[in-house]
Amino acid sequence: MDLYVIYIVLWVVVSLIVASVASSKGHSWSDYFFLSLIISPIITLLIVIASSPNQDKLESLAIASGKERKCPSCAEIVKAEAKICKHCKSELPKFIPPTNSTTVSDDWNTRA
Ligand SMILES: [Zn+2]
Repeated sequence: MDLYVIYIVLWVVVSLIVASVASSKGHSWSDYFFLSLIISPIITLLIVIASSPNQDKLESLAIASGKERKCPSCAEIVKAEAKICKHCKSELPKFIPPTNSTTVSDDWNTRA
């Protein structure tokens, strides 16, 4: 009976790892987690390894996080701080980092 419980816990833990690997490749975390639970974590891990990364999702996540941006000339993804596009060598407009709430609240505290 104890061995049975250990087997289920291992199944779920490995499924969580497989889902995290899939997520890091730009795939749906929940899709791969449930696929792993239903089929097998090992088979799903092999599917994840064999699958090509979801480049569109990874790019949109990088842009949303403020680490990267799209070149206005060639539409390729470049680092947010870049001044010249590595793809088309055109000059990029000045990067304005996204304002976060902590600096706003700090500014508010110094004024008050
Ligand atoms: Zn470019």
